[in-house]
Amino acid sequence: MPRGLALLLVVLLTGCSIPPGAAPTPATATPVASTPSITAPTPGPAPSRGTPSGSAPATPTRTTSPSASTTTRPLAGRTIVVDPGHNGVWTKALNRQVPAGNGRTKACNSSGTAGGDFAEHAFTWATGQALADRLRTLGATVTLTRPNDRGSGPCVNVRAARTNAADADLLISLHADGNLAKGARGYHIIVSSTMIGGGAVERRSMALARNLRSHLDATSTMPRSTYIGDGTAIHARTDIAGLNLITVPGVMLELGNMRNATDLALQRSPAWRASVAKALAAGVVDSLD
Ligand SMILES: [Zn+2]
Repeated sequence: MPRGLALLLVVLLTGCSIPPGAAPTPATATPVASTPSITAPTPGPAPSRGTPSGSAPATPTRTTSPSASTTTRPLAGRTIVVDPGHNGVWTKALNRQVPAGNGRTKACNSSGTAGGDFAEHAFTWATGQALADRLRTLGATVTLTRPNDRGSGPCVNVRAARTNAADADLLISLHADGNLAKGARGYHIIVSSTMIGGGAVERRSMALARNLRSHLDATSTMPRSTYIGDGTAIHARTDIAGLNLITVPGVMLELGNMRNATDLALQRSPAWRASVAKALAAGVVDSLD
């Protein structure tokens, strides 16, 4: 098989997230993309979608602002690290083991999942660009963990090191999931319960996750995950190197299931990605007040 085709198959067949306790997923020709849910699907009540009340919103009243810059550029002086998950190119060399925190090791990076011809790395890159643009508009300095969508690095531990070196206020890592369970869709937010920053950083990361969820629920047309998080859209894990190894608050977003046609249509939409960027940036602002 031509090498290019083989690599494409690897990309298409390899899932994104790894359940806690599972071995890191090497990219092989074996279809392993169906990442089974680690929690049973919960048919409980639908999460609140932040729908408006029946009454019309009050007309905003303009009052004298003490500083226009704090309202138009609320992130001035802040540094945010945006991590577009995975790499433009995947090779077997990325299977090498690197420190993942709390004594674990894991692969330098995985290929990520895909929906049709739309690879996860391309989705995270496009979404990361939209998020970086939005954050900069709000005044932030943005550091990306990879410079383009063509290279084969960096490893997950290096991304964490870059976050720490950036003296950042927080990290937003962008991913999408690949789950073949029927009807599995929606977004969820991963937090680490084993961060080297300790309990204080973990609590601030959880607060960040809740703020991001609040804005996603209010503005995004993608629902909370139907298959992870029991309707909370928040999932604590111990195996995420990029979160375990950072000293500042950070979360990883799984922005939908690329194996679900409805989610994939959203992920392909620049307008939807822009709406997500706006929601995430608003959540960032709330988290740094
Ligand atoms: Zn991923």
